[in-house]
Amino acid sequence: MEDYEKLLGEAFKKVKPCEFCDRFEVKKVEGMHEGTKTIVTNFASIASHLRRKPEHVAKFLLGELASSGNIEGDRLVLTRKLTSAQINEKVEKYANSFVKCSNCGKPDTEIIKEGEQAFLKCMACGTKKAIHDI
Ligand SMILES: [Zn+2]
Repeated sequence: MEDYEKLLGEAFKKVKPCEFCDRFEVKKVEGMHEGTKTIVTNFASIASHLRRKPEHVAKFLLGELASSGNIEGDRLVLTRKLTSAQINEKVEKYANSFVKCSNCGKPDTEIIKEGEQAFLKCMACGTKKAIHDI
């Protein structure tokens, strides 16, 4: 696993201050508990805001949260009882790993594959960074 704090620190240092640039913020999860399950009710909207496939985001979250679960319509159903803070932290981590450009901090990126290697390519500044896809 990568050092999350270190990645954050590096990303922060490289982002040039710009009063006209909006910092990309991930959406906060909205959800509820149903027995021992946790249901993220705005999951589809979180994934579309991240411009990633819901399946990809879900796969990451399930792995990180050590939970099984599945997508049901616009919702993500997790079989563990989790707090929104726990889930928000992982969505944030997903955004840092698979959405935000490590150079300019913008979310205008896409995941491309060259053979077995995946890259996060930034449309805004052209940075191409090797990533470990899931
Ligand atoms: Zn960039």
